[in-house]
Amino acid sequence: MLSFSCDATPLLERHVIIWYNSSHNLALIGGTRMPAPLTEREVDQLFQLLNAEQGSYLQGYLKQSKKSKWLEKLAWKKGIVLDAHTSIDEIWEQLNDWELKEILDGGYGNRPYKCECGMPLRFCYIVHHRKEKKTYRLGETCLGNYTLMSPELIKDITNGFHKIDLERDDILLKHQQGWELPSEYLGLLLPGDIQTQLDLGLPLSSSQMNKIEKTHQQELLQNRLKKQLDKVAQQRKSRSTSSDEFITLEEVLSRHLPMLKQILEHEDRMTSAEMLAKWSNVKQMIKDLKRGKPFDYSKFLLQMFELLYEMKLY
Ligand SMILES: [Zn+2]
Repeated sequence: MLSFSCDATPLLERHVIIWYNSSHNLALIGGTRMPAPLTEREVDQLFQLLNAEQGSYLQGYLKQSKKSKWLEKLAWKKGIVLDAHTSIDEIWEQLNDWELKEILDGGYGNRPYKCECGMPLRFCYIVHHRKEKKTYRLGETCLGNYTLMSPELIKDITNGFHKIDLERDDILLKHQQGWELPSEYLGLLLPGDIQTQLDLGLPLSSSQMNKIEKTHQQELLQNRLKKQLDKVAQQRKSRSTSSDEFITLEEVLSRHLPMLKQILEHEDRMTSAEMLAKWSNVKQMIKDLKRGKPFDYSKFLLQMFELLYEMKLY
C-alpha cells in the first residue's frame, strides 16, 4: 500500500487502537500484524449498527466472496484458468464438481439448520454435485467427510473463508469508528460494486483499498502530490503576506534539506533515465536559485516528491 499521504496511514493505527480497546490480542500472521477475529457476539453487535440496506449488502458481499473463493480454489486445484470471458455457469460445467450453492446463516445464537451428521448448525453450506446429482447440507467440519474433497483443498477453502470473515470485521469496525473515504480517492472511477458499497455509507476493507491503490496508482500519486503542494502553498500564504511569489535559498534548504540529503544518499535507487533527469533538474534549480535566477517552487516540489516516491523514500 502506498503511504504517500498523511491520511492513508491512520487507518492502520486506528485499526490497531480499536483492537486494543476491545481487548483483543494481536497475532502475528505472515509477518504483518493481524487482529484476531471478532467473536460471533461482537460481529452481531456491530451488524446491528448498520441499517437494513447496509446489512443486506454486506451479507450479500460476503456470501458472493465465499462462493467465488470456493470456485477459485477448486478451479486452481484442477488446473482450470479462470478468465473474465467465461461465465460462472460455463466454469461449473467444466469443473463438474462440488458447487457451493448457498450459505445459510441462522443468525446469532440460533442453530436452526442440521448437518447431514445430525449436528445443529448456525451456518449451513448447501453443496451440489452436478454430475452425480447429489446435494448435501453441511457444517464446515463435515464438508470433507461427505464431499470427499481432499483435506488440503478443504483447508484451503476454509482458510479463504476466514480471510473473508476478517475482511467483514475490518468493514464493521471501520463503520463503528466513523470511517471516511480518504480525500484523494474522490473522483476516481471505481468499480460498480465498490461504488455501491460507498454510496450505501459502508467503509472499504483494507484489501479493497489495496486493490484500488494498485489500479489507480498513478492518479492517486498525482492527487497526493497535489494535496501536498496545496498544503505547502497554504503554509506559504499564511507565513508571508507580501512576498507570496518569492522564496529564498535559505527557506528552501531549511524546509527540504533532509529530503534532498535522503535522495543524495540513495542515488543508486535511480533506476531510470527519467529519474536521473529529474534529479539533475532539481539540482539545477537549486543552483539557479543560488544565482538569483527565477525559481519555480511548485515544479521543484513536484519533482522532488515524485523522486522521493519513485525511490520509495517517502
Ligand atoms: Zn456434520
